[in-house]
Amino acid sequence: MPRSRPDLFARHVAWTSDAPMGLEVAHARGPYITLMDGRCLIDCISGIAVSSIGHCHPHVIQAAKEQMDRHLHVMVYGELIQQPQVDYAVRLCQELPEPLQTVYFTMTGTEANEGALKVAKKFTGRTRIVAFEQSFHGDTHGSLSVTGRDIYRKPFRPLLPEVTFLPFDDVRALEAIDTSTACVITEPIQGEGGMNVPSDAWMHALRDRCTETGALLIFDEIQTGFGRTGTLFAFEGFGVVPDIMTVAKAMGGGMPLGGFISRLDILRTLRADPPFSHVTTFGGHPVSCAAAQAALEIILKENLPARARKIERIVRARLKHLCIHEIRGRGAMLGLQMDSSSLAQYLVAECLNRGLILGWTLHAGNLIRLAPPLNIPFDVLDNALRTICDVLNRQ
Ligand code: PLP
Repeated sequence: MPRSRPDLFARHVAWTSDAPMGLEVAHARGPYITLMDGRCLIDCISGIAVSSIGHCHPHVIQAAKEQMDRHLHVMVYGELIQQPQVDYAVRLCQELPEPLQTVYFTMTGTEANEGALKVAKKFTGRTRIVAFEQSFHGDTHGSLSVTGRDIYRKPFRPLLPEVTFLPFDDVRALEAIDTSTACVITEPIQGEGGMNVPSDAWMHALRDRCTETGALLIFDEIQTGFGRTGTLFAFEGFGVVPDIMTVAKAMGGGMPLGGFISRLDILRTLRADPPFSHVTTFGGHPVSCAAAQAALEIILKENLPARARKIERIVRARLKHLCIHEIRGRGAMLGLQMDSSSLAQYLVAECLNRGLILGWTLHAGNLIRLAPPLNIPFDVLDNALRTICDVLNRQ
């Protein structure tokens, strides 16, 4: 007797919690995910800040298909000149200031952070790393070592030694950064920690302290990047440029791609003593790079960072009179802080019943994530917000 697909999902696909959403996807287009049972849901979390230009954008699909007809994987990263990689790196760097002019491509965000931490240690010859409480940088050992929640680190000890956690957005605490510090890693706006936007003063003090001590400043823009917070990268909103920036998520337009971006002389450290100090097989996959280039052109041509700012204005105006404690975040990376986690759970479940996908953040149980595609049509956004209002007004 054939078993149902949910049964097979439970038996043969490893889960990351005991209660996955478990919805069966048929296809996804623009802001919608259509299920096998015919239901069509508005995706207001963009696959966690990935589908910023909506699902399956036709330009991305076309670029990926054209590259598939040319070649797929040909060699490990860094050996052969692959046109989509070079073209995309050039195009991306045109949008970035010095010193962010050389890209090391990875597949995922956590790998980008691993590479950034390694290169910072090797370049500076120092061993100490400074990170921040409530941060999230990924789930491999290095990234986990700098993730600021003990509950996630504890089961996997021992992790990297010499990591110091400082309170986020606390100028005085920055004195702990010293000349033994290889790097300081932070999200410019903390995502999983609760959409925490630090003050401009803290950002500038952080930059100054890193410059004074020679510690490299790493911005993890994996969630904030590619227009989500109202500028192409969140650092632009603060007027502070890091030494290394890590990216992923929305970068590939729905295809897996990440990278750490820095100065050539910093990244050159990985070439020698020993050669191949950091190698990846699939980093900068040509199909992902072709898709990423198409995605970037759409973000720029349609001025999606400006659209993210408009989304923020609309959401704040529409939801301000409801029983929401606070709306946190910037641009289209927003968190609705509810009075309790039970109310947050009720809102997510009821919205899902009514065809709207919202979500939690990893570290903040009573915060609801609202991160729609940046090009969500305004009437669809309006429907989504009406659903939220309706659910909260009736509870
Ligand atoms: N850094 C930040 C800020 C993230 O939000 C995430 C994922 O949510 C990561 C790193 C890890 O990225 P990935 O899941 O692609 O490894």
